Order: sequence, then structure tokens, then C-alpha cells
Amino acid sequence: MSGASEANAANPMLVIISGPSGVGKDTIIEALHKRGRQPAYHYVVTCTTRGPRSSEIPGVSYNFVSVPEFMALRDAGELLEANEVHDNWYGTPKEGVRSAIAGGRHAILKIDVQGARVVKECVPEALLIFVVPPSLDTLVEHLKARRTETAEQLEVRQRNAAMELARKDDYDFVVVNEEGRVDLTAERIEQIIAQEERRGSRRAVTI
Ligand code: 5GP
Repeated sequence: MSGASEANAANPMLVIISGPSGVGKDTIIEALHKRGRQPAYHYVVTCTTRGPRSSEIPGVSYNFVSVPEFMALRDAGELLEANEVHDNWYGTPKEGVRSAIAGGRHAILKIDVQGARVVKECVPEALLIFVVPPSLDTLVEHLKARRTETAEQLEVRQRNAAMELARKDDYDFVVVNEEGRVDLTAERIEQIIAQEERRGSRRAVTI
């Protein structure tokens, strides 16, 4: 989500987008990118020990690493946070966040509720946005329809969804991703980012 001709953000921020599995975070981030009205975004590619799905591109969707590789990154202090999510490890590379901010871009992180809490502790000025489904039923339907998990993995994700939804009050903003209205969700997120950028008090300075 960046390009040489794009304008820089006046106050580059660390923006976390969280929400339960199946709520549509990837589609929203894709929609934000396509809208192109707020150019100064940089999506930070995170690391995972999960295997790639057929639609995913290594280095773009995630940096897919082995468990020993992940632990080596963590032990070398290269991850801003490292957490086990749905039985796999996920972690945010500090470098990705630092280079986004240094380049005048908002660093967009799509991470889970545990990761968001850790990042907020290290970077108190981070902007936290939580995406919720219109209902739990819609979420379960989406999870099943995408057919990217085994029955067992699906069960883990469904179980974790309730736990994640219970943490939405830890966030600065909660946005409902209404059925078939991903553009509206992206627009709302864009407005929140623009509004917080104008306030100027969230400039990420402590990474
Ligand atoms: P998925 O396996 O569906 O791509 O992602 C599972 C969950 O891990 C999602 O909630 C996603 O936001 C979260 N996630 C992705 N990258 C990271 C990361 O670097 N750290 C943390 N804590 N969660 C992540």
C-alpha cells in the first residue's frame, strides 16, 4: 500500500485493525488500498508459522517461516510482539513498522487482540480499530464458506471469536462490517484515520 508518487502523512501513525477470523479484515484492507483516497498507508507484512493458503503469496500475505525461524526472530528482538493465535505463531516485525513511519506512512497492522494489547503497551499512541460482524451467525457462515480451514481449525477459530469479541472495549473505535458493505466499512476506517491524523496526538514516536 505505498508508492513513490503518493503524499506522505502529516502525522504517521501505527494503526491496528483487529477482529475475529472471518469478519473480513483482508477484504477491508484490500478495499482501503483500492479506494486510494488516503494514499499514505503502508500495510506491514507480518510473520507466521501457519502454512500458506492457496490464494496467499509469500512476502505479500505473510512472511511464512518455520517455528525455529520464528523463535530466532523473536529471540533476536526483531518482533514488536509475538503471539500464538489459533494454534500458530504470528509476529510483527519492528523493521516493517519503523520503515513505514520513517517514510511518512501510516503503518497498518492486521493483528489479533493479544498482539494489539502488547503493541499498545509499547506504543501508547497507536490507534486501535476493532471490526465486528453484524452477528455471530454471519461470522460463522463466512468462516465456513471460505473453505480455508479444516473442521478442527474452524472449531478453534469459532471458539476464539467469542473471546476476541469480548475484548472490543479495549479498542479506540469499533466498526461494524455490514453484510456486502465493505466499501462503507473501508470509508469509515478511512475517516477515523484522517480524523485522528488531524488531531495530531497519535504520531508514532516510541517504536
Ligand atoms: P489468519 O491465519 O486468518 O491469516 O490470521 C489469524 C489471526 O492472526 C488474525 O486475527 C490476524 O489478524 C492475526 N495476525 C496476523 N498477523 C499477526 C501478527 O503479526 N501478530 C498477531 N498477534 N496477530 C496476527
